[in-house]
Amino acid sequence: MQITNSKNLFEKAQRFIPGGVNSPVRAFRAVGGDPIFIQKAEGAHIFDEDGNAYIELINSWGPMILGHNHPMIREAVIKAMENGTSFGAPTAKEVEIAELITSMVPSVEKVRMVNSGTEATMSAIRVARGFTGRDKFIKMEGHYHGHGDSFLISAGSGAITMGNPDSPGVTKGTAKDTLLAPYNDLNAIEALLAANPGEIAAIILEPVPGNMGLVTPKEGYLEGLRKICDREGIILIFDEVMTGFRLAKGGAQELFGVTPDMTTLGKIIGGGLPVGAYGGKKEIMDFVSPAGPVYQAGTLSGNPIAMAAGLTMLNYLNEHPEVYEALNSIGSQIVTGIKNSLIKLGLNYTLNHLGSMYSLFFTDKEVFDFASAKHSNTALFGKYFQAMLQKGIYLAPSQFESLFLSTSLSHDLIDQILQANESALKEIH
Ligand SMILES: *Cc1c(COP(=O)(O)O)cnc(C)c1O
Repeated sequence: MQITNSKNLFEKAQRFIPGGVNSPVRAFRAVGGDPIFIQKAEGAHIFDEDGNAYIELINSWGPMILGHNHPMIREAVIKAMENGTSFGAPTAKEVEIAELITSMVPSVEKVRMVNSGTEATMSAIRVARGFTGRDKFIKMEGHYHGHGDSFLISAGSGAITMGNPDSPGVTKGTAKDTLLAPYNDLNAIEALLAANPGEIAAIILEPVPGNMGLVTPKEGYLEGLRKICDREGIILIFDEVMTGFRLAKGGAQELFGVTPDMTTLGKIIGGGLPVGAYGGKKEIMDFVSPAGPVYQAGTLSGNPIAMAAGLTMLNYLNEHPEVYEALNSIGSQIVTGIKNSLIKLGLNYTLNHLGSMYSLFFTDKEVFDFASAKHSNTALFGKYFQAMLQKGIYLAPSQFESLFLSTSLSHDLIDQILQANESALKEIH
């Protein structure tokens, strides 16, 4: 496989962009080798600058749930552009998407649009603090909530991969208000509450974390958090930037039947354009300016092009519940195939899976939190990643990421993925 153009681009990129990329995980540092520069994408495939095609299992880290370059989204964007690209004033589409989101996501009665998942979580925490008048919050080890200062403490994927969980530049003052608990452990939460009585504004978590690889909640865990938050007057925030509109049209909260007080959204919500949102109970969201005292703003928030893409995506998902059946079926075909190969090859690795998300962990131990995820053999994952890439399958370039499937994976493509997977596993052992 020739990747000359990608290599040249990366060399030049490193002269002008820190590390040659605009988001760290893209640099392939966790898996070795040079990153592939992408020219275009269509359906289940991406094409690099050297003309190689890959079947792709990241889908822009989630948004392309219907596959790349979907004509419906493309046309909505082109049509919106004919009316101008930004007004900095309210539009009808913002009202429409807000109404739609509140109808789809159980916890959301009012919603504010922003430009990224990072903005959504930063703002949600500020609102939770403003609403409760408390400063501290609890986050889970290995969960990622974007790159806001107060979240860069045991922050999953990019940060783990870079071996740099606590970023320089985050002050001690900020870090001290972020309390850490292991995921899937209610006793740890109770211990933190006992040590910080009446001081916790919020508990924020990925209800189904994907940023330390995919991990699923133990029976009763999310319900337990709900009970604790009700008892203590704590705002429960589900960060559904990854899982929202993916695990179900109403996200993990719909799938598990546990309704948080606030929800943060991103990725799918923009149909591939830069969009995030945070929402929740009316009385909490009415604390946001100009309805209330907590300030949050954005020059390009609710941008008409981004809203057109997002609205088209969400309307489609809302009206086509069969999308989720298709995704679940694609997910279980792939996971069943991988399991069969593991058995055939006598390998005992952990495969975590829910709907259209999965992670193959290179460990024989169960993975249910950050500490157990870290048992994985990351060097072996790097070899697996490279072997898959050589066979034309583009995986997330880190052990600590979930894969995201799209409806564009046909039976033939699934077969290709499974064959590549089996021979890659054979090669690296
Ligand atoms: C991707 C992600 C974010 C950050 O979103 P950006 O749009 O990259 O800022 C926050 N939370 C979770 C759970 C994510 O997966």
